[in-house]
Amino acid sequence: MHVQFDLIAYLLKYQREASLEFSLAAKCYEEVEATAKRLEMTDLFADLLKVTPKGTVDKIVYLTQGRLYPNFVNVEIGIAEKLAIQAVVRATGRAEKEVKEDLPRTGDIGETARGFLTKKAQTTLVTSTPLTTEIVYGILEKIARASGVGAIDKKLSLLAGLLIRATPNEAKYIIRIATGSLRLGIADMTVLDALAVAYGGGKEARGILERAYNISSDLGKVARTVADKGINAMEGFKVTVGNPIRPMLAERLGSPEEILEKLDNRCIAEFKYDGERIQAHKEDNMVTLFSRRLENITDQYPDAVELFKRDIKAKDAILEAECVAVDVDTGELKPFQELMHRRRKYGIKEAMEEYPVSLFIFDVLYADGNDYTLEPYPVRRKKLEEIVEDGDRVKLVESLEVDNVRDLERFFEKSVESGCEGLMCKSIAEDSVYQAGARGWMWIKYKRDYRSEMTDTVDLVVVGAYYGRGKRAGTYGALLLTAYNPTSDVFETVTKCGTGFTDADLKKLPKILNEHKIAHKDARVQSRLETDVWFEPFLVLEVLGAEITLSPVHTCATDAIRKGSGLAIRFPRFTGNYRVDKSAEDATTEKEILGMYRKQLKRLS
Ligand code: ATP
Repeated sequence: MHVQFDLIAYLLKYQREASLEFSLAAKCYEEVEATAKRLEMTDLFADLLKVTPKGTVDKIVYLTQGRLYPNFVNVEIGIAEKLAIQAVVRATGRAEKEVKEDLPRTGDIGETARGFLTKKAQTTLVTSTPLTTEIVYGILEKIARASGVGAIDKKLSLLAGLLIRATPNEAKYIIRIATGSLRLGIADMTVLDALAVAYGGGKEARGILERAYNISSDLGKVARTVADKGINAMEGFKVTVGNPIRPMLAERLGSPEEILEKLDNRCIAEFKYDGERIQAHKEDNMVTLFSRRLENITDQYPDAVELFKRDIKAKDAILEAECVAVDVDTGELKPFQELMHRRRKYGIKEAMEEYPVSLFIFDVLYADGNDYTLEPYPVRRKKLEEIVEDGDRVKLVESLEVDNVRDLERFFEKSVESGCEGLMCKSIAEDSVYQAGARGWMWIKYKRDYRSEMTDTVDLVVVGAYYGRGKRAGTYGALLLTAYNPTSDVFETVTKCGTGFTDADLKKLPKILNEHKIAHKDARVQSRLETDVWFEPFLVLEVLGAEITLSPVHTCATDAIRKGSGLAIRFPRFTGNYRVDKSAEDATTEKEILGMYRKQLKRLS
């Protein structure tokens, strides 16, 4: 018994120091696909992590989410379906026509590749050494980095070479990863749970790992660190310039009385500017900008980069600001829609001249070697005053410390008059730390339109669709929309929306959505309704409804008001605003909808 134990320990150690056969990953993916249960997914992935060598843990985490690097690194493998077909043709020796004809049957180039490679294996004797995850990752990395003249050919021969060495099942997943269509449904929180099980001694360790993720936005880095140094070392995980920090978000309330009560009768009220949130990372003279979704948007805002360089006195810093379109001559703020002209790949210089911006700085998370995320807000605010050179285009947000309703109301009116949306009211208590990645009561937003319920829009996530009929044949007639529940990390249905879409939207929507089509309901979607098509939760749409009602059908906030009932939005209408700045997890939460419902009741009573 003892000898056997030693042998197992030895084998495990050997495994960890050596490599991970890619067949184990492919098998795990196959099993994950066969279950719709999140707990099972977590266990399956945790089992894979347990046999993964330390040096490969980050790679397997990235690959499982269908990428090579964390989200904020703008490198994509970028194999288009056409090129993938060519690779299958080359690897199997079949005719292009045959492969193309098989595609509509499977609806998935990965499955097609698996089929043709199985046929090939039946007729040829293959005796290659097993493919390792390290090799798969390395070659995919080469494919991603191939550029310039001859890049397409190079990508093609690398991918075909990889397929030749792969088993049919491995090929299926390699192709899916390469074409960006893996979609296993293993979301960030599932990865953290699996890491906690595999390396943290159990799910209770998830909190510590989550904090590390929130301050680094890099699941691979978190995985590597916990695998290497153990869960205790995670406490020392540091904020790093260059690694975006997941943003802190605000709750909402509809009256100054409620806000003051919630914040112990004293807070710092700030203008809530209507622009784009930017997280700026400054290292000497290098500035990198991240969006609210933590995409690298440095190239879109060369003017903002210069402003940060010019007006921030700290050598190294991580700052948060709202970037707002302005009239440079008058200093007047312009609406959010104006700023959207800046979201483009080409013609950046022209857009920069036509739509200039100002930066309103509202937080500091790091400055000159010190992590400020665990400091209370007054300390951070003081630091901001030290390092921000208040100028014409860079300013601290307008703010006022208030302790009574009258002052808060007045300041609110002043903000709206100045072209802002309302106020952000911030806690100044001892524990008012920067809650990375969380929506909490340390920040409370107070917007003008809350005063009449459902004149406020909500941002909902598309998870399914119904085929259109009549005039809408060939497109989608209605979309199934959900709110996000961050506590259980699920998407709860709240309405079906078919109004407000222009002809251009109707044409565009299938193109956007079909890239994220999945064969069955996503594991994180809670729906009592069936749809014609399911999607991964990714697209966020702004919607305005007439009122919120109790619903026996929808799952949003089930049981919160009445046992067995959820909440639904009646007469929803798409406002035309695609919230591309939000990821699915940034959508309106089920709690916010519940809050809106309660307020509506109050008004009616
Ligand atoms: P909304 O949809 O209402 O614009 P949101 O869901 O995008 O809000 P919230 O957390 O609800 O995000 O509101 C905070 C947002 O308000 C921040 O993401 C930031 O972009 C913006 N903002 C404007 N002024 C401030 C400020 N003074 N402090 C913090 N955030 C501010």
